[in-house]
Amino acid sequence: MRRSLHIKLVLIMVLLIVSLMVVVGAFLMNSVTGYYIHEFYQQIADAFGEDNVDFVRDLQTATGAEDEADGADMVGAVLALYEGVLGVDRRNRNYFVLDGTTGRYLTGSAPAPEGGVSITPNISTALLGKVGDDSSVTADYMDAAIPITRGGQSYIVYILDSRETARSLNAEMFSLIIEALVLGLIISILLSFLLAKTMVNPIQRLTNGIEGAARGDFSRKLEVSSGDEIGQLTESFNAMAQQLETTIAAVENERNKLDTLFLHMADGVVAFDREERVIHSNPAAARLLGRAFTQEDRYGELFGDLFPFEQAEAADGHLSGARRVEGRHLELLLAPFARANQGGVLVLIHDVTEQRKAEQMRKDFVANVSHELRTPLTNIKSYAETLDDGVGDLSPEMEHKFLGVILNESDRMTHILQDLLTLSRFDSGRDELRLTRFPFAKAVDDTYQAILMDAQNHAHTVELDLPGSLPEVRADRERVMQVMMNIVSNAIKYTPDGGRIRISAGRTGDQVWMEVDDNGIGIPESDRDRIFERFYRVDKARSRQSGGTGLGLSIAQEIMHRHEGSLYLVDKEEPGLTIRMELPIRGPREEAAHEK
Ligand code: ADP
Repeated sequence: MRRSLHIKLVLIMVLLIVSLMVVVGAFLMNSVTGYYIHEFYQQIADAFGEDNVDFVRDLQTATGAEDEADGADMVGAVLALYEGVLGVDRRNRNYFVLDGTTGRYLTGSAPAPEGGVSITPNISTALLGKVGDDSSVTADYMDAAIPITRGGQSYIVYILDSRETARSLNAEMFSLIIEALVLGLIISILLSFLLAKTMVNPIQRLTNGIEGAARGDFSRKLEVSSGDEIGQLTESFNAMAQQLETTIAAVENERNKLDTLFLHMADGVVAFDREERVIHSNPAAARLLGRAFTQEDRYGELFGDLFPFEQAEAADGHLSGARRVEGRHLELLLAPFARANQGGVLVLIHDVTEQRKAEQMRKDFVANVSHELRTPLTNIKSYAETLDDGVGDLSPEMEHKFLGVILNESDRMTHILQDLLTLSRFDSGRDELRLTRFPFAKAVDDTYQAILMDAQNHAHTVELDLPGSLPEVRADRERVMQVMMNIVSNAIKYTPDGGRIRISAGRTGDQVWMEVDDNGIGIPESDRDRIFERFYRVDKARSRQSGGTGLGLSIAQEIMHRHEGSLYLVDKEEPGLTIRMELPIRGPREEAAHEK
């Protein structure tokens, strides 16, 4: 760019100088010729004018009888005398005496040219008796022909100038002009360098800055070296670059935010362009659909079964679809997006598996609750009706038995409702743990003491394996005891009479644990995963018979989770069941826990 502008500048200057020189030269040379012609005729006019009456008289007055040749000689002699007045130098300017009627050469300051004096327009005029004093600027000579009469003879005084003086003057001037031109060219080239420094260099700097900006480099602030238009342009560029930098940074920031959002959001997003190619997809989309995306993937293969691309692209708002992938329920929203003539379709993939599961659990829960409450209620109702129908007919023992059943069933209902209330408190987070420090070993031992009688009633052998020193734990003692009682009671309940129950406890790292092992009926493999679910019971009849609600273990596990501990089944080969609870010694970190 620099070179081209520089060359252009040089060319303009050269053209300017050359054209100026040509115009001035042509004008000057024309003026010189014109002046020379004018001077020539002025000289002739002066010589033959009133101021030189002697000369004209001498020319015209014959001294005696003269023939044509004598007369011509005499005229020649007079002319020779007045050479100075006429400017005759006998080289470039000569005088000739011609015959007044034929124009033939008679005499002159120079011999007759070969072939005689040519009859010029001025000689023709003089032959007609008038003064011929006209000359073209372009002709290579100038002449004047003055007809005179002397002694009855007519002559023509013919002054011929070869214009050599004017030519040599013009040649001189031409070489001067050429010299001036060369000098002018040198000056113009030097000037162009100067101009380049003041104009081209700042423009070059500006160009570099703009090129940098085009590449995204806005860090360079251009130096404003002048207050002229280029300086103003540079200033405007700096302001624009700064504005652009700020805007781009803001846009970049927004894009980064969006990218981070896309990257970490739980919902999957896949975007397609108008050619149905994948232009964007996030890790969640790949995870949910169980496949990675490439540029080669097309909408048709991925979502064509839901809606044709054209339909999705023309949708007003969004279209909804559903799909099951690897056991997961996915909800898909397809919406068109458009910007200028770009655009395409955006597919949002939402995993609703948990939602569906939760919904199903809620439905099951409601059904379970209704079922659990209906059974004792039906029993109460039927026994009460029987009592009512048979007032007076029933023996006191029967009445007592029926009333016992009614009381039992209402106790069961109360029990279920209490458990439900506890769970609901846990679910809503309203139930805060009352954290205290207490010896874990003591709690285990208290549990052991509490169930001993019951175990003995079932002829169970209960072993207690408690290490000498166990630390104090920070936990809700009442709740922890509830868990312990629940799992030990279960062992008693689900072990046929005369069984063996072993309660052991200990410390591992920063946790304490208690394990209850029995040799009872155990839990079939297929049910092991589910026994912590609400209302789940392997053998409903047996559980109910022993007063179970099917909520005990889910409450127990909930309590352990709230303590950041755990409750799980331990794998074992022998018949029976081993269940283990673990509790962090330092207690839960959760803020929800309330310390007394
Ligand atoms: P329930 O009130 O019915 O005892 P739980 O939530 O305490 O309810 O226990 C859930 C189910 O787990 C029980 O119904 C029973 O089928 C099974 N279960 C719990 N503990 C044992 C055990 N020690 N041996 C065999 N089965 C057990």
